[in-house]
Amino acid sequence: MKKILILGAGTAGTMMAHHLVKKVNKNEWSITIIDQHEKHYYQPGFLFIPFGIYSEEDVIKEKTSLLPKGVEYIQAPIELIEAEKKQVILGDKKSIPYDILIIATGCEIVPEEVEGVDEGWRKEIFDFYTIEGAVALRDKLKDWEGGKLVVHISEMPIKCPVAPLEFVFLADWFFSEKKKNRKKVELSYVTPLDSAFTKQKCADALSEYFPQKNIELIKNFNVSHVDAESRKLVSLDDREVTYDLLVTIPVNMGSKLIERSDLGDDLNFVPTDKHTLQSKAHENIFVIGDATDIPASKAGSVAHFEAEILTENILSYINEKPLAASFDGHANCFIESGYNKALLIDFNYDIEPVEGTFPLPGVGPFSLLKETKINHLGKLAFRHIYWHMLLKGIPIPTVTPDMKKSGKKLEGLSVDV
Ligand SMILES: Cc1cc2nc3c(=O)[nH]c(=O)nc-3n(C[C@H](O)[C@H](O)[C@H](O)COP(=O)(O)OP(=O)(O)OC[C@H]3O[C@@H](n4cnc5c(N)ncnc54)[C@H](O)[C@@H]3O)c2cc1C
Repeated sequence: MKKILILGAGTAGTMMAHHLVKKVNKNEWSITIIDQHEKHYYQPGFLFIPFGIYSEEDVIKEKTSLLPKGVEYIQAPIELIEAEKKQVILGDKKSIPYDILIIATGCEIVPEEVEGVDEGWRKEIFDFYTIEGAVALRDKLKDWEGGKLVVHISEMPIKCPVAPLEFVFLADWFFSEKKKNRKKVELSYVTPLDSAFTKQKCADALSEYFPQKNIELIKNFNVSHVDAESRKLVSLDDREVTYDLLVTIPVNMGSKLIERSDLGDDLNFVPTDKHTLQSKAHENIFVIGDATDIPASKAGSVAHFEAEILTENILSYINEKPLAASFDGHANCFIESGYNKALLIDFNYDIEPVEGTFPLPGVGPFSLLKETKINHLGKLAFRHIYWHMLLKGIPIPTVTPDMKKSGKKLEGLSVDV
């Protein structure tokens, strides 16, 4: 019996387990998935926890309840990947051999990468990229009387690059509508980018939101350190931004396992072919989700599209055929803008976010690059779709892994196929 070994039972690993168990010959292949944690977190829901919109129960399930029958689950920390020996070593030193390895170990925040953050951590400096951070921030905001709230990105890439924007827009809504103390709160958004977002068309669409919502936008801010005592962010070019409450997106890095195994780049992301999702260093290793170094967004929607492509390529690899399925970098993200509205963006490696409708040309129901209530309902529905369809690899009608051009305005040309 040959073995497919999946490392990480988060979004991408769970999806791969579901896809592969339906497709591989069970008389020849066994599938094992390993993860250190018992719980699966719906990370997009972390955004809503600080504002009391979601609670912990909305975003946490047992991993075993989400994995398919026919896949062996091992709950253990993974210590090392020994690629030359085609085996993985667990924390208890047990070795697990494999024929095909799928790395789906995601990425994590590393607050200590920015000097000084540690000193104010969970006192005046918070994150919402972990369940612990989101809950601690909710408790802080409950009693916070107001002052200067700074939302800050340390360095790109980060997972879900729209999440900090959504946070600052929701903060404006939260203090206006829920706490009714917006006048006592100054909001600033500090980014190392030269605009509000990585994709220019989206940044242009969002630029008017900052003055409208009275949020200061500070660009090109490459943080050098945080002075937690005097509560200020200091940039490499000696600019300073003071805060009373700092909501930071710390540096995002791939799992330390990747560093220990000498398989990653400076940020512990695994060099990966951006179309086939095969590791650049080892032909029997494939990489999916936030663990890759490919220039696509680190998002659950991307993992969902990649999973379909990677399944095809793994089947080709098993059958000794060329890896013909090609990932186009397709990403699809709702952007909560507060007041029960959201935008939606759809883009890939080659095409910037465009206007139009999604998923049905001319019909929608979602509008691209426009703020609508239906988009907001889509964002909320995404949680149910995630638990019941996306993770289980159930196809969503009309949503395909490749970015469809129909119904979209490409460079002024409306494609209404
Ligand atoms: C605040 C926030 C908001 C977001 N919003 C959205 C959104 O609106 N839309 C969207 O599409 N995406 C969103 N995302 C991003 C999305 O959640 C991630 O891109 C997605 O979960 C990536 O899946 P993954 O499988 O690559 O990594 P993960 O789901 O993080 O899974 C990685 C798994 O690997 C395991 N692992 C790592 N190292 C080891 C080890 N050494 N031993 C054992 N196990 C290990 C971890 O325990 C984890 O379970 C958001 C993320 C955050 C944090």
